[in-house]
Amino acid sequence: MPFQDRSDRDRVGHGGSYRTVLQEGEVDALESVPGGLRARIGSRHIAARKVILATGIVDDKPALPSLQEFIYAGKIRFCPICDGFEVQGKSVAVLGPVKHAIKKALFLRTYTRDVTLLAVDEPANLDAGEQRALRDAGISVAPEPVIDLQTEGENLWAVLSGGARVGIDVLYPAMGAKVRSELAIQLGARGNEDGCLYVDEKQRTSIQHLYAVGDVTLELDQLSVAIGQAAIAATDVHNSLGENYR
Ligand SMILES: Cc1cc2nc3c(=O)[nH]c(=O)nc-3n(C[C@H](O)[C@H](O)[C@H](O)COP(=O)(O)OP(=O)(O)OC[C@H]3O[C@@H](n4cnc5c(N)ncnc54)[C@H](O)[C@@H]3O)c2cc1C
Repeated sequence: MPFQDRSDRDRVGHGGSYRTVLQEGEVDALESVPGGLRARIGSRHIAARKVILATGIVDDKPALPSLQEFIYAGKIRFCPICDGFEVQGKSVAVLGPVKHAIKKALFLRTYTRDVTLLAVDEPANLDAGEQRALRDAGISVAPEPVIDLQTEGENLWAVLSGGARVGIDVLYPAMGAKVRSELAIQLGARGNEDGCLYVDEKQRTSIQHLYAVGDVTLELDQLSVAIGQAAIAATDVHNSLGENYR
């Protein structure tokens, strides 16, 4: 993105040998302007002919004072595709609205025999088919909703509404995520009900000049996918900008 005035120039980071202009700040809005788009960051505006959106998602997390500490200790994890192999043989629980949590629980069953589904809503919300699928996979479902998580030293327990405690080696929350696509959605970009953006084979959204890559799109949430999509988008941006010979 080109800088707009001297104050922006003072704020930019160094782009090293790539001569990239880095600017810090949270983009409040994207606006369509003739020939491109314009980002608003507070009172600043940055215009660009093309924009690649890579704003990601934010996982919903359980309210736990020591959450950060447990994440660093590997006892609370979010991405079984990333690290499921590290919990082999452990006692694993998946916490979330039951219907949402099933998929993660079944996925984790590949890595350990000891998987428990912990509902934040009603375990009875599971229909007969879902109960059968869990039973066939040997996944236990806690009989009551979880009302609290307790920690003591390095130990973690889920407390059920009836007072029983379930000990857990590793907890995977499956509570949903906020897809940070609002900048594109406000412009009218097409996305699914969760807010994941639809893109074409060049990573173009339904809004002219706007691309999207990474977790904000519908594809698998993995670094390798995000980086591959970024390469596709960047190449299409390059090709669409016309000749720029030295
Ligand atoms: C706990 C955890 C572990 C993971 N482990 C792995 C792993 O081992 N291997 C793997 O491949 N993947 C892993 N992932 C997934 C991986 O992190 C994501 O797939 C990847 O980071 C997606 O990249 P992204 O650029 O789309 O989004 P992100 O990396 O989330 O980056 C989005 C950035 O955009 C910024 N942003 C959002 N809105 C605005 C705005 N309006 N203005 C300015 N900035 C904004 C955010 O602050 C953020 O910095 C893990 C994810 C989590 C949560």
